[in-house]
Amino acid sequence: MPDTAVLHNIFKLYFLIGLIANDLLFAVHFRRIRQARTIDARKTGLDIPLWVLALLGTQAIPVVYVLTSWLDFADYHLPTWFGLFGAGLLAVALWLYWRSHAVLGRNWSPSLQIREGHSLVTRGVYRYVRHPIYAADWLWGIAQALLLQNWIAGLSCLASFLPIYLYRVPREEQMMLEHFGEEYREYMKRTGRLIPRFWR
Ligand code: SAH
Repeated sequence: MPDTAVLHNIFKLYFLIGLIANDLLFAVHFRRIRQARTIDARKTGLDIPLWVLALLGTQAIPVVYVLTSWLDFADYHLPTWFGLFGAGLLAVALWLYWRSHAVLGRNWSPSLQIREGHSLVTRGVYRYVRHPIYAADWLWGIAQALLLQNWIAGLSCLASFLPIYLYRVPREEQMMLEHFGEEYREYMKRTGRLIPRFWR
């Protein structure tokens, strides 16, 4: 087993590769929806500040931590298997992003929007949960805390995602209810927000 310092560097590198893969996935899907016409956009003055906060916590702070030693004063140390578990969680999160985008297709949007020809997706991973992308964000946040063992960079994803999540999900579900009515209401009964309702 390599010593702790080497292991932490391996975890940092693994995280960085995962982050690049995630950003590439985002870019590919962003390109795909560029042409799609929007028929309803729910924008508020809080959207941009919350986005900036999330970008700081999920991109800027972890990248600064991995590439410099500026934040090292706030390091913590967990047993090795925590890091290995984090590596597994990061892979699961990436898989979930990939599968969610694969079925959501052009219905995806980075902000709350309804597209022309928007259809309600209830298959694939959406069969089990209504918000698999946000579930992946939470898994990513936990993985980040286990891989980047630092009070600032490790927890920045969880801390910056919580406000946008709490602000966004009720508004998103309200928008979906307004557009898809009974179909979405039934879908809500069968599915959990983040955790599947296997007993239904
Ligand atoms: N909350 C979902 C999707 C995030 S992307 C998730 O976590 O996976 C946000 C956009 O996806 C919303 O603006 C909405 O228009 C669209 N959306 C959300 N759930 C959807 C569904 N089941 N079918 C189709 N579009 C959906």
